Amino acid sequence: TEQKDKQYVWHPFTQMQEWVARPQKVIAAAAGIKLIDTDGNEYYDGVSSLWVNLHGHRKAAIDQAIIDQLGKVAHTTMLGLANIPAAELAKQLVDIAPAGLSKVFYSDDGSTAVEVALKMAFQYWQQQGKPGKQKFIALQQAYHGDTVGAVSVGGIDLFHRIFKPLLFTPAHIPTPSCYHCQLATDPLTCKMQCATRLEQVLAEHHEEIAGLIVEPLVQAAAGMLMSPPGYLAKIREISRKYNVLFIADEVATGFGRTGKMFACEHEGVTPDLMVLSKGITGGYMPLAATLATDEIYNAFLGDYSDKKTFYHGHSYTGNPLACAAALANLKIFREEGVLEGLVPKIATTAAKLQKIASLDHVGDVRQCGLIIGIELMRDKNNKVSYSWEQAIGASVCLQARRHGLLIRPIGDVVVFMPPLASSADELEQMLTIIESSIREITE
Ligand code: PMP
Repeated sequence: TEQKDKQYVWHPFTQMQEWVARPQKVIAAAAGIKLIDTDGNEYYDGVSSLWVNLHGHRKAAIDQAIIDQLGKVAHTTMLGLANIPAAELAKQLVDIAPAGLSKVFYSDDGSTAVEVALKMAFQYWQQQGKPGKQKFIALQQAYHGDTVGAVSVGGIDLFHRIFKPLLFTPAHIPTPSCYHCQLATDPLTCKMQCATRLEQVLAEHHEEIAGLIVEPLVQAAAGMLMSPPGYLAKIREISRKYNVLFIADEVATGFGRTGKMFACEHEGVTPDLMVLSKGITGGYMPLAATLATDEIYNAFLGDYSDKKTFYHGHSYTGNPLACAAALANLKIFREEGVLEGLVPKIATTAAKLQKIASLDHVGDVRQCGLIIGIELMRDKNNKVSYSWEQAIGASVCLQARRHGLLIRPIGDVVVFMPPLASSADELEQMLTIIESSIREITE
């Protein structure tokens, strides 16, 4: 397998990956929250297989739901046809989503669901008689996926810069991240300038702005940057005041990651459009959904002759197998009390993180539910970072792998996003590995 993989497979970030994952491991099987390679070595899945896995691998109820659906139909188009799991799932998603979101548009992954939200917002205003509302506002270090529209509203330089000539340009507002804040040095005098900048932009330009897109609470790919309490509700209020659609990208934060089903719930926020993927199938297979309000949906209604439909539709939209897995996922949330069970796990994690925060080269530790970012600093007192060449985050993650834990860095931020099913004991063990790996590499 190694040889075939090397010869034929073009992995994402192949060349940079050399640093992070040498030598490449081949995963052959899994059990619970562990992955097993072809040599029989076991590793904790400390990033939930790129932030998707919730209930562990080979979860019997999800396996069975997929097998049952396979005995009926694996796939059929949603263009002009409906299918049973997709209809049932749409109802259940609407039931658990923030009030007001009432329609579900399916697609295949986070990036395409973001594209759907952007195109919906754009077309909505065209059909509302406000054709001037064509632009978007996004956060400076946002990440919304890798397709062209999603990269356009992204802001992370590494992913954005090279494609610039291809992209449409949103207005960027500052990333709310207290540890890195350049706007206010004293939290007491901060007055949340990061949010007020939005008000300034909208006061002047709201006639041109279709929507504001945000990752609620946590800017994940930026290095688990977390917004201060009240920020989300505040920017929601501002977007409503200026009649700009609020798009919540819950691809990373949705399905219990933050301790609640959706991050928006922490601040009582109801978006106009909400984007879901990753955990939607419990981490089993690709599926995504863009949820919209009736108000948006109704703008697309009309006679055949109006040509008012939403111009978008994928081949695998609403795939019955993926929807069956998603239904099993939601059933597990209901029947196993997943959200209630998270409360002590989040507390165990927080207690252990306090110790990690005191290490000599840990500058900042950020936690939101079971989303954790540990930022390494060469000189923590003077906030001096390591150089890029030192690849310190990658070295710590490689060391963790030697101790049986798979995690991935984002620059100098060690990211820990374990499956929600991890027990308190397993969380302790994984965090102990992280602590010793940081010590061994940095001290
Ligand atoms: N939005 C957010 C907030 C994400 O974190 C990601 C993926 N990390 C995406 C969108 C893109 O999702 P996908 O990789 O499934 O296309």
